[in-house]
Amino acid sequence: MSQLVYRRVVLKLSGEALMGDADYGIDPAMIGRLATEVIEAQQAGAEIALVIGGGNIFRGAGLAAAGMDRVTGDHMGMLATVINALAMQDALEKRGARARVMSAIKINDVCEDYIRRRAIRHLEKGRIAIFAAGTGNPFFTTDSGAALRAIEIGADLLLKATKVDGVYDSDPKKNPGAKRFDSLTYDQVISRDLNVMDTAAFALCRDSDLPLRIFDMGQPGVLLRVLRGENIGTLVQG
Ligand code: UDP
Repeated sequence: MSQLVYRRVVLKLSGEALMGDADYGIDPAMIGRLATEVIEAQQAGAEIALVIGGGNIFRGAGLAAAGMDRVTGDHMGMLATVINALAMQDALEKRGARARVMSAIKINDVCEDYIRRRAIRHLEKGRIAIFAAGTGNPFFTTDSGAALRAIEIGADLLLKATKVDGVYDSDPKKNPGAKRFDSLTYDQVISRDLNVMDTAAFALCRDSDLPLRIFDMGQPGVLLRVLRGENIGTLVQG
C-alpha cells in the first residue's frame, strides 16, 4: 500500500453534494457514502477536517434575491451548514468513526465552538473535525471558511470536491472540446479568469501558498487515492 503524501487536509463538500438525486435536503445514502470515503482516508492515517456548505438548504444570496435581508439570509445559510455538519457527524459516528462539529457561530447546545488549538487536538487524536458555519461572518462562503481553516490548522492541502472532475478552460457541459488542466499556478487561474472557487477564498489560498485540489468525489476510493498523491482532478499551487 502506498504511503500518504498529504497528512492533514481540509475537504470542502458543497451542500449540494449531500442531496444525491433530490433537489433539496440530505440524502441519507449519499451522506453515508461520503462518510465512508472520509473514514477510509482517515483510517489510512490522514488527519481530516471537513467543511460542508449549505446550498442544499439555504444560501444567503438566493434569499436576498427573493427579498430577504442579506445578513439574515447569510445567518440562515450558516445555520444550514450546521445542520449539514450535524448530519455528517451522525453518519460518521454510525460507521464507527469519531467526529466533532465545531461551529464558527456560538451554538453550544448542539456542537462545540471552533477553537483552533482544540480543533488540532481533535485531529491529532484521530477524530474527524467538521467545521460548521463557514467563517462565522455574512458575505462570505464556505469556500472561504475552508481556506481560512485550512491555513489556520496548517493543512498540507485544501480539497474541493465538485461535480466536475477538475478545472476546464471552458464549461465542459456546454463545450464538448473543453480541456481539463492537470495543474495550474495561482497566477494562471487569475490570468485565464478560471472559476475555481470564490475570489476571497482563492486569494486566501494564494496569499498563504496553500495548494488546492479540485476533484470529483463520485468514484469510490478517490479521496484516498488523492491523499496518496495520484494526480486526480486539477492541482492549483504557486
Ligand atoms: N455563509 C456565510 N458566511 C460564511 C459561510 C457561509 O454567510 O462564512 C452563508 C452564505 O449565505 C452561504 C450559505 O451560508 O450562501 C451556505 O454556504 P455556501 O453557499 O458556501 O454553501 P455551498 O454552495 O458550498 O453548498
